[in-house]
Amino acid sequence: MLGSLSLSGKRALILGVANERSLAWAIAKHLHEAGAILAFNYLGDALERRVRPLAESVQAEIIAPCNVASDADLDALFRLVNEKWGGLDILIHSVAFAQKEDLEGRFVDTSREGFRVAMDISAYSLVAAAKRAEPLMSEGGGSMITLSYYGSQKVVPNYNVMGVAKAALEACVRYLAADLGSKKIRVNSISAGPVKTLAAAGIRDFRNMLAAAEEKTPLKENISADDVGAMAAFLCGPGGKHITGSNILIDSGAHIMGG
Ligand code: NAD
Repeated sequence: MLGSLSLSGKRALILGVANERSLAWAIAKHLHEAGAILAFNYLGDALERRVRPLAESVQAEIIAPCNVASDADLDALFRLVNEKWGGLDILIHSVAFAQKEDLEGRFVDTSREGFRVAMDISAYSLVAAAKRAEPLMSEGGGSMITLSYYGSQKVVPNYNVMGVAKAALEACVRYLAADLGSKKIRVNSISAGPVKTLAAAGIRDFRNMLAAAEEKTPLKENISADDVGAMAAFLCGPGGKHITGSNILIDSGAHIMGG
């Protein structure tokens, strides 16, 4: 079914590719396969060296720096998108960050600054990007997708402040979906099971998290980045037409299990 999905000519801005393992890259590949035209950001020179060749391999039309903690960077990126495309159909927000010391030990020890940084980069940045994408999507509507994790709903060891940021992110999705729905702009999150990526490597004992997830899931296997890519493409296509404000779990069913 996905083979016949067409996003031909749809303009997609993808925030959050760091390397070929990134969930955002899996999404980019699926959007590209379905015919979308792509734009990418990167964070800093070191990541530019990783992102640029990937982006060029899918004929990206825009490859630009953007730190989502900076309003000036966001303004410059969306200005570039507007100048180049005059509009936007898809926004992928696949960005999160928390200080390393806040992804281990006790949540109660989170510092004020650690809390602020995690919230700003992992939750508020969706709002900041959505605000700038809205005028570009106002004519034809659009689809915005962010990435969450089940640590937003239940306590997951070491996920700590990121769980709180993801809870805020999922609430942001609902409020944004309500605000933007009349313009046919849909906003959803995909809550993915654990996948080994650069960001995941920052969580203490991530390997145990992967093993535990596999053991716990009804399907007895972990998800792949590719599963996330396929769902994102589906949400951007006709099948997602009436899906907004949702948090879609791709976790081999882990969330239904207790104990
Ligand atoms: P990743 O490291 O490949 O992607 C995280 C991205 O965030 C990187 O590209 C990084 O450059 C970017 N980023 C961080 N701070 C930024 C800033 N200030 N400005 C701009 N970009 C910034 O890892 P990933 O696992 O693909 O993470 C993508 C999203 O998926 C995150 O929101 C993460 O929480 C979420 N997620 C990951 C998993 C998992 O197990 N990997 C599971 C569920 C949800």
